[in-house]
Amino acid sequence: MSRATLAILLSRLRLFTDPKTRLEQYPTPSEAAATILWDAHTRGLIEGKTVLDLGAGTGILGIGALILGAKKVIFVEIDPDAHQFIEENLTLMKNELERDFGEWEIIEKDITIESDSVARVPHADLTVLNPPFGTKEKHVDIEFLSLAVASAPEVYSFHKTITKNYLLGLVQKNGAHLVQEFPFSFALPATMKQHTKNIHKVAISCFHIARNA
Ligand code: SAH
Repeated sequence: MSRATLAILLSRLRLFTDPKTRLEQYPTPSEAAATILWDAHTRGLIEGKTVLDLGAGTGILGIGALILGAKKVIFVEIDPDAHQFIEENLTLMKNELERDFGEWEIIEKDITIESDSVARVPHADLTVLNPPFGTKEKHVDIEFLSLAVASAPEVYSFHKTITKNYLLGLVQKNGAHLVQEFPFSFALPATMKQHTKNIHKVAISCFHIARNA
């Protein structure tokens, strides 16, 4: 397996046919997914580990982790329609690779409900997420990131680059720090009246965050 092979495999996954704008169902581009998963892999954070995919959508991040030898992946997703996509994509990848994966579990859950944050999400060795960016529901990105940091000692999380200082302040308060930033540019559907094109490019960063020793 190489980073390039992983990117090709992930590019074959099925995407939402009818994405729900309210839930900000924008898939992670396969190149970006492969880049951050490969980094985690080379740091020894995936093989034999339990990985949590928070706001899993069609499953690209968690499935990538299974391809790279995760022991178990827990997919957490609010939308029951997404579950079928995750199952189909898992079957697709198992057939492509002609081998079995580690275990997986799909949990249908709205992560913003309930008061005790730690009880809300399962614990893992690594949490990967491309959460809603908070465009439709304010601060949902912050809630996702806080839960991610509470759930695992290592986190890779995608956010609008413009929110970096604010989010990293929050991360510090939670006893964690930035290890590395991966800059990307995502083509997202226009959300503002002043956007003249249907699709516009947005600066997105994936932050690798680790709990302080
Ligand atoms: N992680 C996927 C999907 C990104 S889009 C990928 O990388 O391609 C964000 C996902 O978060 C969507 O699938 C959406 O349904 C889910 N989501 C939005 N709000 C949520 C909530 N409150 N609880 C759990 N999942 C949520």
